[in-house]
Amino acid sequence: MNIALIAHDNKKQEMVQFTVAFEPVLKKHDLYSTGTTGKRIMEETSLSIHRFQSGPLGGDQQIGAMIAKNEMDLILFFKDPLTAQPHEPDVTALIRLCDVYKIPLATNMATGEVLIKGLERGDFKWRSIVHGKEGKAGE
Ligand code: PGA
Repeated sequence: MNIALIAHDNKKQEMVQFTVAFEPVLKKHDLYSTGTTGKRIMEETSLSIHRFQSGPLGGDQQIGAMIAKNEMDLILFFKDPLTAQPHEPDVTALIRLCDVYKIPLATNMATGEVLIKGLERGDFKWRSIVHGKEGKAGE
């Protein structure tokens, strides 16, 4: 499955801790991220991640483009609700596309944990039916 990992600056440390904790699950999948989030995760884990542009420079939109092509299966987007983001319209657009295409989306670590545990159990196998192909982990 194709999984996107995005974290606003104040949530990057949480994202790193999350990916360290769930590295054995995440490594079975194809991972994508915005630039800085991916850099931080790769510094702290052995995960290999396809990095797009940094979020404010278009990375959220690049991930949105994958959603629009139905190429993204799960989004973990740890948002900072207490800080204004210069690219707020991009953030809103990304979340909107998840709703348009019915893509599982977590906007905080607690929901992220629920989704990752579902991923481990194979709860998202329906996504491979949508794709019409087997994922990296045979899901
Ligand atoms: P970043 O982008 O990973 O490049 O910091 C995240 C975001 O703010 O969308």
